[in-house]
Amino acid sequence: MASPSEKNTAVKVVLKTLTPLWTAGANGKMARIYESGLLGSLRWWHEAIVRALGGWACDPSGDIKCLFDAAAYEQSQEFDERLRLRDAGLCDVCQLFGATGWRRRFQLQVVEDHTQALWTGEQLLNIRPEGRSRGWFLPPGHLGTFSLRLQGAPSALAPVLALLHFAEQHASLGPKPQLGYGVVEILNKDEVKPLMGDFSWEHLLPQKTAQGYGNSTAQRDLPRLDKMGFFRYCFQPEHSNWWMQLSGLERVARFVQPFSRQTIPLAPLLKNSWRFDHWRRSWGRERDFWGLVEAERQRGKVAVSWAYRADYTWEIRGSVWLDGLVDPKSVWAMFQNTDIWANTLGMEGKLTSISPKEWKKTLGLGA
Ligand SMILES: [Zn+2]
Repeated sequence: MASPSEKNTAVKVVLKTLTPLWTAGANGKMARIYESGLLGSLRWWHEAIVRALGGWACDPSGDIKCLFDAAAYEQSQEFDERLRLRDAGLCDVCQLFGATGWRRRFQLQVVEDHTQALWTGEQLLNIRPEGRSRGWFLPPGHLGTFSLRLQGAPSALAPVLALLHFAEQHASLGPKPQLGYGVVEILNKDEVKPLMGDFSWEHLLPQKTAQGYGNSTAQRDLPRLDKMGFFRYCFQPEHSNWWMQLSGLERVARFVQPFSRQTIPLAPLLKNSWRFDHWRRSWGRERDFWGLVEAERQRGKVAVSWAYRADYTWEIRGSVWLDGLVDPKSVWAMFQNTDIWANTLGMEGKLTSISPKEWKKTLGLGA
């Protein structure tokens, strides 16, 4: 963590949205890109990574939150700043993202926002595949380019940039990943890379792990990278109206048409197929895994993106958190079943995946 001698520095990260980005303000509407939504997703992934690496990440939605205790900090005998901060009551995540009495170690600001809403007005796009009475309701996210200005000590910026890189490569930014929002591309990688210095996830945590930290049973039900699988499906449609005949999309084709060359809301179709056509009761509680209702007020454990343009092909990516299941192997096999993908999209493609066992690959670490 930041030593007092470290000088603050700033970096601009230029991003392009591949699927719409959704961040809501206090009124639930999106007048611009709100930083809080971006920070929330970065923190979520940082927690999942820290837990997988054997570190300590509190549950910010739980009852016990980190609280900085200045007296305990002064009394700590630890030499490593990160361990001193632990002694002062801050988990490995709050040390970077802040907690009561402790400021976030970096500032993040949206600058140069050139994104635009997919459609005007607040109407939700209702995607209702055959057999569903309600279906899924999608808000109008934003498409375009925007920049983030990050400021802080180099030692604090390095992990934040690494998180952005992780989100770009494997995940997404902002809320509603389960509905496919927030896949982004970093456009100025050459400028950003040098600022990551020699950062490696391997060296994120202090060597010494104090008793009671790390993989305690209390953390079992919280998201962690080593319980997650990642997948990516690439396909090459033969004509531009390939999506129009798909179940659930023909009814909203007029809506989707204007942005259909960039991104298509296919996440509900895939979820519909996995959840209602292929899920077996013996695998675990369906509602816990997929969320409470079709509208998904409660966050489910599957994130799947809209289809988006990736150079000359199309792509869909996603991740599955395989925790709390009776038969996680069969569930993971379902996501890797290429017949389901091909039948739902109406064409064959190529599926690549990273299984939970290979989770270190997503961090650029040897398995
Ligand atoms: Zn914490």
